[in-house]
Amino acid sequence: MSRPVPKPGILDIAPYTPGKSPVAEPGRKVFKLSANETPFGPSPRAIEAYKSAADHLEDYPEGTSRVLREAIGRSFGLDPDRIICGAGSDEILNLLAHTYLGPGDEAISTAHGFLVYPIATMANGASNVVAPEVDFTCDVDAILKAVTPRTKLVWLANPNNPTGTYIPFDEVKRLRAGLPPNVLLVLDAAYADYVSRNDYEFGIELVATTDNTVVTHTFSKIHGLAALRIGWMFGPAQIVDAVNRIRGPFNVSTPAMLAAVAAIEDTAHQQMSRTHTEKWRNVLTDEIGKLGLKVTPSVTNFVLIHFPTTPGKTAVEADAFLTKRGLVLRALANYKLPHALRMTIGTEEANLLVLDGLRDFMAQP
Ligand SMILES: *Cc1c(COP(=O)(O)O)cnc(C)c1O
Repeated sequence: MSRPVPKPGILDIAPYTPGKSPVAEPGRKVFKLSANETPFGPSPRAIEAYKSAADHLEDYPEGTSRVLREAIGRSFGLDPDRIICGAGSDEILNLLAHTYLGPGDEAISTAHGFLVYPIATMANGASNVVAPEVDFTCDVDAILKAVTPRTKLVWLANPNNPTGTYIPFDEVKRLRAGLPPNVLLVLDAAYADYVSRNDYEFGIELVATTDNTVVTHTFSKIHGLAALRIGWMFGPAQIVDAVNRIRGPFNVSTPAMLAAVAAIEDTAHQQMSRTHTEKWRNVLTDEIGKLGLKVTPSVTNFVLIHFPTTPGKTAVEADAFLTKRGLVLRALANYKLPHALRMTIGTEEANLLVLDGLRDFMAQP
């Protein structure tokens, strides 16, 4: 070989395509509704905390993110020793894959699951096994059927992105009970803060009562700190110990850590965002439905809108129509959802403009 060759599996990974950069007609205000970011920004106290860190940029961060682990512990009633913080949950997911997956292993994800999972799996030489979904929702039986002696890990976003659906906690427990004990179950709770259903729990109880389940969470969504890259996991002691051995010693920056502490303590800011999101999720689902478009029932801060395949009314054409008006939604061809668009719930102004836009699009000859 005359040049460096990537490890097996790397070049099988389809490059991740982020949401497109908006180009609207001149004079149009642009609303980015393509990356599930909050329209409210972070808590003002988080911004203050971030700025206060500017006085000491010469110092390395405290390497275990202790103040943040303690704040998360207080907020959720968790032992801080069993929390790991990372540069986004992306880093945490990759650390888990790096710790538990290698060539010959299999990891299961679902048909329209988050794309970071197959990337993390294949980057470690393991195979990505896809379990089908029912009505854009995780099917526990399909996951259990996909298990083989090579299965080492199951990835489950609950609720899932980009579908917006969830499974009740009873179903998560049935999944855990049906998986072999050596299989790690990763529950990604990125959107847990937006769910208001009695039968939902994000999984802390399972982590506390088993030694093969972890939950991951993020500051990128309701806390509005996506730019700072902060996520975390809660897991059994042995898993925390193993992952900490490969974690970079200063993987979370001090400004990010301090901003996250302030954000998690500002419960009023979170409640405001949750109330707005729930209200508009209902309005958008009803009103878009009245236009003759199907909306998958969502429990998150985004909705999945399905378009007809009739020429003139397709998702690709709707995307172009809305983009011209400065309304940028997310096309989902790489999620095997070519006939759908994902819309992040925005400000009242943005939401009403999308409704107007979709009404005009559907009314076109
Ligand atoms: C947005 C999102 C995350 C958060 O990723 P970060 O790296 O923490 O920004 C995790 N999982 C899913 C399913 C998401 O949609």
